Amino acid sequence: MIASVLPTYNRTAFGFVKGEGSWLTATDGSRYLDLGAGIAVNALGHANPDLVAALTEQAGKLWHVSNLYQIPEQQRLADALVNATFADTVFFTNSGTEALELAVKMARKYWYERGEADRFEIVTLEGAFHGRSTAAIAASGAEKMVKGFGPLMPGFRQVKWGDAAALKAATGPQTAAVLVEPIQGEGGIRALADAELRALRALCDETGALLILDEVQCGMGRTGRLFAHEWAGIAPDIMMVAKGIGGGFPLGAVLATERAASGMIGGTHGSTYGGNPLACAVGARVVEIVTEPGFLAEVNRKAALFRQGLEGLVAAHPQVFEAVRGQGLMLGLKCIPAPVEVVKAAYGEHLLTVPAADNVLRLLPALNIADADLAEALARLDRAATALEADAA
Ligand SMILES: *Cc1c(COP(=O)(O)O)cnc(C)c1O
Repeated sequence: MIASVLPTYNRTAFGFVKGEGSWLTATDGSRYLDLGAGIAVNALGHANPDLVAALTEQAGKLWHVSNLYQIPEQQRLADALVNATFADTVFFTNSGTEALELAVKMARKYWYERGEADRFEIVTLEGAFHGRSTAAIAASGAEKMVKGFGPLMPGFRQVKWGDAAALKAATGPQTAAVLVEPIQGEGGIRALADAELRALRALCDETGALLILDEVQCGMGRTGRLFAHEWAGIAPDIMMVAKGIGGGFPLGAVLATERAASGMIGGTHGSTYGGNPLACAVGARVVEIVTEPGFLAEVNRKAALFRQGLEGLVAAHPQVFEAVRGQGLMLGLKCIPAPVEVVKAAYGEHLLTVPAADNVLRLLPALNIADADLAEALARLDRAATALEADAA
C-alpha cells in the first residue's frame, strides 16, 4: 500500500519537533546538530528570534491580500534588494523552481520583443539543478530527473562541465540566455572559477545572450558575499533567488536589470501567493540582517575557521575524505565512500549533513552558527569518519 505521503523522498526514520539556532530536537527528545540548515534555507538558524518576531507581528496584522493591491512589505523588500544588488526590479515567487520558470520566460520574452522569437535557446551546464518543474528538469537534463517525464520542454542545451570551448560553441545567435549556478549545489559544491564567470560574462556580451545566474543555493550570504557572483566582480542580467532569503519561510525572487525585464509588461506573469505579506515581512528582516555591517565578515571568519578544521579532517581520514571544496559556508567534502554512507555515519553522531552529486558531502550550516557549534560539528564528523574506517577494516 502506498504511503499516505507520496514516497518520492528517501526519508530518515527520525523527524524533528523543535529547533533553536543550529540545534534540532527529535521526536524522541534527542538533539541533533544541524549542518544542512534545511538545504541552505535556515540561513539564520532555527527559530531565530528576529524572524519569529517579524513573522508573528505580521501574522497579527495581515496574511494575504493579492498582487492586485499594493503590498508595503513586498515594496520594502524589493527596494532593499534593488539597493543591495545589480538589479533594477524584482518579482517574488514561493520557491526556486518558480523563479526558474520566470527567468526562462523573461529571457525568451526579451528576444520576442526584439523581433527574434526564434532566439529561445537556453544553454545550461551538466550537473545543474534548477528545480523539479517540467522546464527545470529540461534545463538540468540529468537522466535521473527527466527519465519518464517526456516529452521535455524544448529549447535547452546542456554543455559539459569544465569545457569552455563547448560552452563557446553552444552559445550563439540562437541563444536567448546562458543559465548557470556560480557554485553548483546539488551538483556537488562545484564552483565556476572567478575567471570562468568573467569569461562567461564576456561571452554573453559578445553574443548578446542574457546571463541568468541561479543563486538559489549559493546566494544570500552563503558564500561570504551577499551573492556569489560578486566574488568575480561581474553581474548577471537575471538572477534567481530562494532558499536562504526566506530563512525557512517559502520565498523566492527573480531579480533583473531593466533591460532584461523589459518584455514583462502588465499581464505577462503572475502568482497568487508570490510576495505575500507574511513571506516579505520575514524576507525583509533576513535581508536587513545579512546586509548589516559586519555580518558577512563574520560569515567569512567562521568559514575560514571551519575550513581549516575540515582540512584537518581530510588529513586525518584519507580513506574517507579526499578534499574540501566550496566557498564561505557553502562547503563540500569530496568523499571516498558514497556520501550517503558518510551522511548515515554522521546521523549516528546526531549530526545532519546533506549528500550531493560528484561524491560530495555538503555542509551548509546556518550563517550565524556559533564557533563552538562548528567545533562540535568537526568532532562529530571526526567520530563518524572513525566509525566508517572501523566498519571498512
Ligand atoms: C533548491 C534549488 C532550486 C529549486 O528551488 P525550490 O525552492 O526547491 O523550488 C533551484 N536551483 C538551485 C540552485 C537550488 O539549489
